[in-house]
Amino acid sequence: MARPAHLHIFGFPVRFELWFFLVVGFIAFTASARIEYTIGWIAIITASVLIHELGHAFAYRYYGATPSISMHGFGGLTFGHNSDHLSTGQRIVVSAAGSATTMLLLGGPAWVALRLLDPVGDARLILDWIFWINLIWALINLAPVWPLDGGHIVDDGLLLISGKSRRRFVHWISLVAAAAIAVFFWFQGSTFAVIIFGFMAYINIGQLGLVGGGSRTDSVDSVLAPSPPPTPPDHVRGVHPDSENDTEPDTENDPDPDPSPGR
Ligand SMILES: [Zn+2]
Repeated sequence: MARPAHLHIFGFPVRFELWFFLVVGFIAFTASARIEYTIGWIAIITASVLIHELGHAFAYRYYGATPSISMHGFGGLTFGHNSDHLSTGQRIVVSAAGSATTMLLLGGPAWVALRLLDPVGDARLILDWIFWINLIWALINLAPVWPLDGGHIVDDGLLLISGKSRRRFVHWISLVAAAAIAVFFWFQGSTFAVIIFGFMAYINIGQLGLVGGGSRTDSVDSVLAPSPPPTPPDHVRGVHPDSENDTEPDTENDPDPDPSPGR
């Protein structure tokens, strides 16, 4: 990471960009228009994205790299410094570690708590948020869309199977998957997710125009902050809102502004 860390968590340098909080807060506030929801959403998103990135960071460390984390306007990034020696299989583990960590530590337990405890009021709302961000959203992050974690896994998986880079094919897969997911969210009425996946389709179109060789520029993982705003009205009435309509965990992962920030 070029710029200094604000703090160290488990020994990993972590930097927080103001844009991270502004973007997350803006999305939450425009959805709920309530300051207490916005603050709660920012807190849960920050913790969730951070834990996702820590999952990647611990995996990197396990394989001998020295990662750092940046929380930026579009989510989180884990930079894999000194990770050139990682094998293709190890990179797949690193890519999967983010979502696996949040699913295991947050999304799964939240789902169990919702089922067993059937909470009401704020407790239910908060658990719904945690569930959507860390289970559903984590799964979306594993969709075969470059540059999401899932796109990196497909990229490395094809390299592992075929012995050579299939980057162009990966971008085609990503384009089709991103377009399909955008259409899905269109029918769900989740505008932000449509924009995100539309943008992902667009950047893969760009890559298809540019990519010729198999240069690997992505030792970095990233996550796009989700946009899933709550539906306060149902909650306020004490109704148990169906989570589906309640928060829309949109995407994560990232449009990688800088293709190789970690190097
Ligand atoms: Zn990730």
